[in-house]
Amino acid sequence: MTTPIIEVEDLHKFFKQARKNSLDKNKYVRAVNEVSFSLCEGESFGLVGESGSGKSTLGQVILQLIKQTSGTVKYRGKNVSSFTKKELKAWRRQVQIVFQNPYASLNPKKSIGWTVEEPLHIHKIGDRVFRRQRAIEVLEEVGLDHSFMDRYPHELSGGQRQRIAIATAIILEPEFIVIDEGVSALDVSVQAQILNLLKKLQRKYKLTYLFISHDLNVVQYFCNRIAVMYLGEIIEIGKTVELGSSPKHPYTKGLFSSILSIEEADELKLLEGDLHRFSNDIEACPFHDRCKFAMDICQSVKPKRQKVGNYHEVGCHLYDIKNENKESILKVN
Ligand code: SF4
Repeated sequence: MTTPIIEVEDLHKFFKQARKNSLDKNKYVRAVNEVSFSLCEGESFGLVGESGSGKSTLGQVILQLIKQTSGTVKYRGKNVSSFTKKELKAWRRQVQIVFQNPYASLNPKKSIGWTVEEPLHIHKIGDRVFRRQRAIEVLEEVGLDHSFMDRYPHELSGGQRQRIAIATAIILEPEFIVIDEGVSALDVSVQAQILNLLKKLQRKYKLTYLFISHDLNVVQYFCNRIAVMYLGEIIEIGKTVELGSSPKHPYTKGLFSSILSIEEADELKLLEGDLHRFSNDIEACPFHDRCKFAMDICQSVKPKRQKVGNYHEVGCHLYDIKNENKESILKVN
């Protein structure tokens, strides 16, 4: 492991819940809850989980696009909440985001050239000639020629639009990019091209990626490490090879079983029901209402993440050293 570029410590993001009646006061959705992890320079770190698990909110809190309720985000050891306005602006050059649907983030009235040059305008970098030259350069780096400068978003395919979003993200030569479901809307063949492009750019710009996706296949292909999120919490984290070959948490096992063949998946049918939030006051394992291995303790004590291998941690009572229910432990190992 190299130097951490991002450190997240005990991060929470709660959203106020809409009131259904006058007695319904102060209810919050814990979109991100007790999240801690660090991200090393040059790695591709995957954040995987069902829709509604809090992955995108976590990505946006890390970039300070939305403010956390509590907890700390550090960038190269410095708390980003303590940045002055000037430091924050300088930091914004170092961190970027690529969204799932670039069509929604591209201005339909502006040419591609205008869009790609815009970050240079915002940060007052270079003159008109420099900005145009740099935009053409990054377009070429993402596999598009200079003729795209004068085109408009509606003239492009989904893959080309995603290349434009990537060009716009790299034009400032950032260090860290959040890719939020960046290939989910693309055909499989285009997905592979974009993933390979991201890898090529990572080598050239020494980029660190936080790669958010619900697609375990894509995350396994692209990332060095994976964190699994469930109801706002990281319930398992580890190197891709270890997590893929030996997932520990029943939910992670269920996720991996869902990408096996139909026959294998039938044998390992661990995931049933839907993700749903229970009362904020309950201190329980977030997965207890869907877990086939749930014990009494799971309904009243939230499991702490603990080491189960090199860089591999899981939050599940089945792996508690003090837990005497060895039978259950053996069943899932
Ligand atoms: Fe299942 Fe209990 Fe482990 Fe939660 S802590 S995943 S309920 S066994």
